[in-house]
Amino acid sequence: MSVEPLSPSTVVTRLRAAGCVFAEDEAELLLATARRPAELAAMVERRISGLPLEHVLGWAEFHGLRVAVDPGVFVPRRRTEFLVQQALAAADASGPVVLVDLCCGSGALGAALASALPGSELHAADIEPAAVRCARRNLAAFGGHVYEGDLFAPLPAELRGRVSILTANVPYVPSGEVGLLPPEARDHEPLVALDGGADGLDIMRRVALAAPRWLAPGGTLLVETSERQVPGALAAMAAGGLRARLVTSDELYATVVTGVRE
Ligand code: GLN
Repeated sequence: MSVEPLSPSTVVTRLRAAGCVFAEDEAELLLATARRPAELAAMVERRISGLPLEHVLGWAEFHGLRVAVDPGVFVPRRRTEFLVQQALAAADASGPVVLVDLCCGSGALGAALASALPGSELHAADIEPAAVRCARRNLAAFGGHVYEGDLFAPLPAELRGRVSILTANVPYVPSGEVGLLPPEARDHEPLVALDGGADGLDIMRRVALAAPRWLAPGGTLLVETSERQVPGALAAMAAGGLRARLVTSDELYATVVTGVRE
């Protein structure tokens, strides 16, 4: 059965009626991605039913890359490009770089770092099997190794004391505020990727405490937080024995806390 193609203006109208604020931009992406009229119609339906745009498209743009994002996998946020920028600034590109990305989700951070630092060794881990599968696909082109497990637990022991750049976009939403997230996040991203415990810093604290055993001397841990969590995040870095620093971006509305192993 052939399906009458939806016109661009119909797509825009239907998205706008469903409350999509960026209806024109979204319509353009859906029209460019769908290969057949029936596929376009199905994509518009899924978006209208509340699925995140990136899950409908199957990819997200991140730091100039097109990163595959499977259903049920945390959608990389554009804001997190600031974490990439800071990690690249911290990386000493003159020698071999050992990159580890924890709570890797789709693997977007690792892909962005590895593509900017060719020749580096890339390891990533996540506790969610769906994220691990997705990250394996995204990181294959960079020779990235992706492990399934809790934070550092699945990493090979030979990485201890060798990591130059350790990134972790940990879940950092306070448990009591998860219900306030947009439905796209609440209903379609795993809670384990969002819920950071009572003050949102539980996972960050665990990462900072264990990081010194994995970082090389001079190596840097970088995490994203919210503005409100800055004092707690700085204290967590210090508790792990790391030299803590705060960097913010007004443009991306992003807050990053870094910790260097002296
Ligand atoms: N609320 C944050 C966001 O939507 C969640 C990010 C996180 O927990 N890593 O960007």
